[in-house]
Amino acid sequence: MKEKLYAIPVNDAFSKDCECPVCAMYKELENNAVEYTMGPSYMEDDIRAVTDRLGFCDKHVKMVYDQNNRLGMALVMSTHLRKTIGDVKAATKHRTMPKISLFSKNKTTGNPVTEYIHNLDNSCFVCSRINGIFDRYIATIFHLWKTDEAFREKYKSSKGFCQRHYAVLTDYAPKELKDSALNEFLSITDKLYIENMERVLGDIDWFINKFDFRYDNEPWKNSKDSLQRAILKTNSVDIE
Ligand SMILES: [Zn+2]
Ligand SMILES: [Zn+2]
Repeated sequence: MKEKLYAIPVNDAFSKDCECPVCAMYKELENNAVEYTMGPSYMEDDIRAVTDRLGFCDKHVKMVYDQNNRLGMALVMSTHLRKTIGDVKAATKHRTMPKISLFSKNKTTGNPVTEYIHNLDNSCFVCSRINGIFDRYIATIFHLWKTDEAFREKYKSSKGFCQRHYAVLTDYAPKELKDSALNEFLSITDKLYIENMERVLGDIDWFINKFDFRYDNEPWKNSKDSLQRAILKTNSVDIE
């Protein structure tokens, strides 16, 4: 059962002292996927066929580059560029002049070249590797919530979630829980999110106070890293 396999990383993330344990889970998957991309796997034909087809999103192309495997990345880019050029050449042969209506929402209709590029822009080898496992991690959170009292306590004493993962959890909940069990989970999760957002807001407000000379002799309290923690809450971005 996959949920058992993923119980350890999910429990580990919820044991971390952080503003969003789901971000912690995501970050670990992301680092693993980036390392995998520049590990021995890129020499395997079937993996390379996928990187050739999907390419990388803006964020992950930079992370893959920062792995400092210049030859490996050059090989990956070489076959990816070759495939893109071949696909675009083929698509240009099928291009009919698109009918662009002022009232049409999709202005690329009938243009296989821009449709191809639009799809390529929205696909990423690293994202797709993360997403497959990330969904199982979210399912595991609910499996543990239902079966493991110690995990449930850990969840309740977490520091809440970033806004994106708060939405992920509340959207997923009705698939796993019904009636009063669903209401209980949602009200606990709502409370965790709101109270911890308010806590971070309090830290930010204190941080602002510290720029006022009247607060010179006051302690910083828990505000020194409040901006980084606020950015994690709003954007799921970990600024170290
Ligand atoms: Zn998060
Ligand atoms: Zn990506």
